Amino acid sequence: MLHLSRLSLEALADPRGYDCACGRHHVCAMAYLRVGRGAIRETPQMVAALGARHPYVVCDANTYAAAGEQVCRLLTEAGIAHACHILPGAHVAPDERAVGSALMHVQPGCDMVLGVGSGVINDVCKVIAHALGVPGAIVGTAPSMDGYASSSSSMEVDRVKVSLYNRCPAGVLLDTDILAQAPMPMLWAGLGDMVAKYIALCEWRIAHIVTGEFYCEEVAALMRAAMAKVVGAADGIPARDPDAMAAIAEGLIIAGVGMAYAGSSRPASGLEHYFSHMWEMMALDRGKPYALHGIQVGVGTVLCMKLYRRIRQVRPDRARAQAWMQAFRREDWEAQVRRIYGKAAGTIIRLEDACRKNDPDKHAARLDRLIAHWDEILRVIDEELPDYDALCGLMAKTGMPMRPSDLGLSIEDTVDAFLGARDVRDKYLSCSVLWDLGLTDEFAAYLREVAEE
Ligand SMILES: [Zn+2]
Ligand SMILES: [Zn+2]
Repeated sequence: MLHLSRLSLEALADPRGYDCACGRHHVCAMAYLRVGRGAIRETPQMVAALGARHPYVVCDANTYAAAGEQVCRLLTEAGIAHACHILPGAHVAPDERAVGSALMHVQPGCDMVLGVGSGVINDVCKVIAHALGVPGAIVGTAPSMDGYASSSSSMEVDRVKVSLYNRCPAGVLLDTDILAQAPMPMLWAGLGDMVAKYIALCEWRIAHIVTGEFYCEEVAALMRAAMAKVVGAADGIPARDPDAMAAIAEGLIIAGVGMAYAGSSRPASGLEHYFSHMWEMMALDRGKPYALHGIQVGVGTVLCMKLYRRIRQVRPDRARAQAWMQAFRREDWEAQVRRIYGKAAGTIIRLEDACRKNDPDKHAARLDRLIAHWDEILRVIDEELPDYDALCGLMAKTGMPMRPSDLGLSIEDTVDAFLGARDVRDKYLSCSVLWDLGLTDEFAAYLREVAEE
């Protein structure tokens, strides 16, 4: 065994990577990685280590005040010529406007993009570094999500959420003194994005059993270790304890490494993330604001824990599943997609035309495997999921939102998110299991009952 989960952060970022028993070579090359108190002071060293002489600093008004101003001062003091752009607006979205604004202010000779911020800035900077063909680096301002080290960006393109795969930032600096000053919802969001991994790992293993999708136990173990760091530090969140901030920052970085190792977000995201994706798409379609990614994901995790409570009691019934498939009408499905997805419906329908997950033969093959392996699936659920009360107690103690209504979401939007989640991507989730077993309607009714409990 490789035991990736026992390696240090620096070893995990080794550019040589690791040959794994799963048959893949896992690599997340980060040339410069520092987490700790005062780490921001190493900004000039990071820039030099990455071979850059003209970094382009990108931030927003909040992150400029939190750390961007200091980053620019440190660069000036070190004699490093740089340009700085503050993305306009009170609320910067990871969309064409932000990418366009950042690109429009690039100076000739820029040889590195240095983001100062958290989720949105990091995602935007990954996209522009990739477009410019220069290294990217980030000085983090909040422990709010697991994307610091990941190789993908969660973007809004034509008002649809998409994942763009580019490259891990070459440098990551997380100064725990700065992270500790982040707004409390951003600290809650980091915890939310990590408790999600209970569901994500459970669903990754189920998908491996049912569809034969790639799975790597080494990467899963690494994610469990990352999660343990964050969950273990949750009690320190309300007081902004520096040791807790360091543990959370490390856990979030390791989770990003795990995604880069797997080459997808699979180890980090399951149905709980799809609740968030759906709520965001609904908000985008309506031109409404939405809560932080990790906060929505935390609420999604609680909903998933409720669903799994009942999934544990399911006994697959072949006749019921077959009757469900026989009653399936493409027109009805399309009408539901149009109702739930609004303007994004066309994209979703084209995706189904390409992956054909609603095809009766494919359903029959998945159903055979679900029935043959149901005991194994129940075992996976028992192994991966924590005790419901223990997890909710831990989350609630931090004061974070726990229910859809805490985010201003209606029960209809929550049930629709559950109904539509299976169609966002070609990804096998617990809601896909329920669809295959003919239990979608029953579970939608159950969710309606318990979502606000
Ligand atoms: Zn592997
Ligand atoms: Zn996430």
